[in-house]
Amino acid sequence: MTTYARIFSFIRPYRLTLALSIVCSIFFSIFSGVSIYLIIPLLTTLFGGGSAGQPPAPPSPGSSFLPGWLVAAKDAATEAFRHAVFRADPADSLLNICVIIVSAFLLRNLFSYLQSNLMIYVEQGLTRDLRNSLYRHIHELPLAYFTNERTGNLISRIMNDVPVINTGISATFQTMIREPLLLLVYLTICLVLSWKLTVIAFIVFPVVLLVIAGVGRRVHKESGLAQERIADLTSVLHETISGVKVVKAFGMEEFENRKFSRESNSYFRTILRVTNIRNLASPTTEFLSAAAGGVIIWYGGLQVLGKSMEGSEFLGFLFAMFQLMPPIKELSNVNNRIQEASAAGKRVFEVLDTEPNIKDAADAVALPSFSSDIRFEGVSFRYGDGETVLDGITLKIRKGEVVAIVGPSGAGKSTLIDLVPRFYDPTGGRILIDGVDLRRVQLRSLRDKIGIVTQETILFNDTVRNNIAYGLEECPLEEIVDAARAANAHTFISEMPFGYDSVIGERGVKISGGERQRLALARAILKNPPVLILDEATSSLDTESEILVQEAIERLMAGRTSIVIAHRLSTVQHADRIVVIENGKIVETGKHDELIGKTRGLYRKLYQLQFRA
Ligand code: ATP
Repeated sequence: MTTYARIFSFIRPYRLTLALSIVCSIFFSIFSGVSIYLIIPLLTTLFGGGSAGQPPAPPSPGSSFLPGWLVAAKDAATEAFRHAVFRADPADSLLNICVIIVSAFLLRNLFSYLQSNLMIYVEQGLTRDLRNSLYRHIHELPLAYFTNERTGNLISRIMNDVPVINTGISATFQTMIREPLLLLVYLTICLVLSWKLTVIAFIVFPVVLLVIAGVGRRVHKESGLAQERIADLTSVLHETISGVKVVKAFGMEEFENRKFSRESNSYFRTILRVTNIRNLASPTTEFLSAAAGGVIIWYGGLQVLGKSMEGSEFLGFLFAMFQLMPPIKELSNVNNRIQEASAAGKRVFEVLDTEPNIKDAADAVALPSFSSDIRFEGVSFRYGDGETVLDGITLKIRKGEVVAIVGPSGAGKSTLIDLVPRFYDPTGGRILIDGVDLRRVQLRSLRDKIGIVTQETILFNDTVRNNIAYGLEECPLEEIVDAARAANAHTFISEMPFGYDSVIGERGVKISGGERQRLALARAILKNPPVLILDEATSSLDTESEILVQEAIERLMAGRTSIVIAHRLSTVQHADRIVVIENGKIVETGKHDELIGKTRGLYRKLYQLQFRA
């Protein structure tokens, strides 16, 4: 399916509104034609008498090529109009015509207003739906996707590309329907008045069309570039704003400024180029139209001088001809807008088409509870096409056990624990929970059983209460308070201006590192999962804070199966088992006392290095 056809599939829910908008377009075009055509009797009244006694104007010789029925219809309409409007006194006729012209304009604008409003509803509805489905889809994408894709790029697709698709929609359903209808109406008027003049006017059109097509192709190419540039700009912006502390700490403001200037300059140049090309379309069309106008006035003027055309008809013709310009101008742009929209659509669908490879299998089973063990059987893993990060890991973690994972930096510890909640799937071997392959367990029921506390504590811009109860609906305050107490967080929360209803800023900037950790621990305690995955923070806290955090961790681990990337002395010493990883392989396992006794063991070496203090 082409990109454009796919965009249309999002319009389905709005087809009734769209149909109404098209009906309004039709009426708008009809009343636009009527209001222009009425110029002729107006001029006749002003300059040619226009009383009821006057004989009807003979059919224009210029319209002799038209089908008989059309000429007859035109004559009948003219006659009926004369009868209804023209009075013996030209002043009365004038008043009648003016009333009719004003009414026609009123109706024309009323339908224009209705049409625009209906169209906006469709456009904005479509934007909302597309954004929502993108957002929903992003949540289904595996973690790997986010490490490969820049955040700003993704944000830009949702915020900047979706509205561009919109302009394509309005181009299609507003411009492509309304403007051709207007063209048809005005063109019919022109043809009825003088087909020869019309033909002459239209000789220039193929030339205009050729120019437009060329410009359209360029715009398509360049606008894709412009959207990429704005995505780059958004990326830089996002990175520096979220990393503002690092930028300041390293005094990199100037460096970042230069980087931003470079990107924004690049966008500036691209957008100038696109706009330049797009702007070229309008004046070119206009000039070509003006040239045609000169020829028409000359030829038409000769007809009037030669008495083969009424002066009022010629002026009516000119009015209709001028009215042809705006629709042609709009239509000359329409191709560009559609091209831009389909380029933006392509980027949006790229995201939507990324298959979430970590999802429930068709025969996935729900995990009622965690009752026995988690087993790694010959598990290997690599990121994309990269090096092997985990290699033949075989490990059994029994219910209730505390397993500490220890190893040098880059050994694969975080990767190992990320496999348990299925953030990634192993590339070799398998992981079983209570004897069922993780890939056959419903994701939701698996993740329900697991609590994760990582080093990077993400707190949402919300109240303390909602941050602790994240993921739990309608959790009573008492339970939240209990969890906070167990995490040694209650005291500092109570000292906040609004207690549990205090809002903590993005990533909890308004609270200290230790407090943040304790909030994350409270969150895990409240969730009360049977399995706990803990990546202990490496950053050192002051002694008091350290003791508070340590107590909270101990309470959290009590009675749970815990897999801990251990950085704390007490966790390592009290673990039921320590698993030492080096280069993606398990090199030692055992209790602290056993491992520390191995004189050449890696654990002993790491222990001495890490915990010497
Ligand atoms: P540390 O103690 O420093 O956190 P670790 O033992 O937890 O290290 P991992 O984070 O699991 O190690 O990383 C293992 C290897 O995988 C490293 O070489 C790392 O560069 C690589 N790696 C980690 N995450 C990714 C990723 N998202 N994409 C590609 N490679 C990755």
